[in-house]
Amino acid sequence: MKKSKILETAHRYLETATKYMDIDDDLLKLLKHCKREILVHFPVKMDDGTMKVFTGYRVIHNATLGPSKGGIRYHPDLNLEETRALAMLMSWKAALVNIPFGGAKGGVQCDTKVMSEKELENLTRRFTWEIAPFIGRDKDIPAPDMYTNPKVMAWMMDTYSILKGHSVPEVVTGKPLELGGSVGRFEATGKSVFLSTVEAVRHMGLGNSLEGLKIVIQGSGNVGGTAARFFHDAGAKVVGISNSKAGRYNPNGLNMANALNFKDQYECSLSYIEDCECITNEELLELECDILVPAAVANQIHENNASKLRCRLLVEGANSPTTSEADDILFDRGIPVVPDILANAGGLTVSYFEWVQNVQELLWSEAKVSERLEKIIRQAFHQVVSVAEEKKVRMRTAAYILGVERVARAMALRGIYP
Ligand code: NAD
Repeated sequence: MKKSKILETAHRYLETATKYMDIDDDLLKLLKHCKREILVHFPVKMDDGTMKVFTGYRVIHNATLGPSKGGIRYHPDLNLEETRALAMLMSWKAALVNIPFGGAKGGVQCDTKVMSEKELENLTRRFTWEIAPFIGRDKDIPAPDMYTNPKVMAWMMDTYSILKGHSVPEVVTGKPLELGGSVGRFEATGKSVFLSTVEAVRHMGLGNSLEGLKIVIQGSGNVGGTAARFFHDAGAKVVGISNSKAGRYNPNGLNMANALNFKDQYECSLSYIEDCECITNEELLELECDILVPAAVANQIHENNASKLRCRLLVEGANSPTTSEADDILFDRGIPVVPDILANAGGLTVSYFEWVQNVQELLWSEAKVSERLEKIIRQAFHQVVSVAEEKKVRMRTAAYILGVERVARAMALRGIYP
């Protein structure tokens, strides 16, 4: 079977990084595989009284440094290969920001746009039941990803807790605050996109702040919508933003005020944006801007559009939005890329804070979460830049070198059992 594009990209980035490391061939072979792959087909009662069979996945790429961690995605195109690639990214991401977690990913092949809330709840509860033997605070800890949100995490936590006979908030992160969620978790991924953009802008000498810089964001959900809010509050001009259907554009800056008030719906309401042009997602990516932030799905920047991008900096909010062919084109064109495993690591980082608070039965203040997140993202950014300069590689390769090396070293120290 031909490898899916996203898995091919993940392997290519891994191979590139390992050229700069002293790594055993056998270990590299092992790192390309996922440790555990769970595939389930399960029934869900639909509102019209029928029963539908859904397919779900939970893939653990690596658990050397600690319990595995990764989002749950609900998407009609989700498949095993994509889940493998996304799980692998989580391993490097956790190691890059020095969080003692391994990498995992999961989800269900489904279209949430055509399902009622009751059907989604039935699906979530049954999927949780199917994977329950393999998740848990010391084993594997799910979180939200595309088309899942705090409400879905609440159903997962409740189902798991019923099975255990007591409340187990630490089995998932990204929960509602009332159930042991952490302050700052909802905003964390968008915030790390913003923080790494600020650092990159300073590093490139584009300025000391984002004031007046033009930003284009693909996706307006948890990551894109929250990042838009941080950019807007920092005085940047969001000139373009989109959702799965279409984009909005105004070269002088969109009036985002009403659209950004979306916390309860988990997605920006683009219909509130007036005085703008409607454009396609393809057109959006090619808009002239200072910073382009793909924050939706994978493979959006590819060999056919990379030469047409008109940004000065690309910051990856989504996981794997850039194919390796496009990455080469952008490098040749001198457009720096802040890679996904750095730019969107805030979600994983605050998920770790949430887990620590749950395990210790403590509540951290917003200031503590915010201060620690900022420190971790800034530190990781500067480590990446320093490796990139030392080894004369692009930021993505440097980030991979740091992440992969930490995982590989830990695996070598633990050895092979038996
Ligand atoms: P979300 O479901 O909250 O929002 C997704 C957004 O993308 C929505 O605006 C949706 O309309 C848009 N979209 C969907 N399909 C699209 C398409 N084909 N073209 C253009 N836009 C499309 O999801 P999210 O949590 O914001 O995740 C977005 C990306 O960020 C994903 O790649 C995810 O893996 C990654 N990510 C999320 C987190 C997190 O904490 N939520 C953490 C790290 C990485």
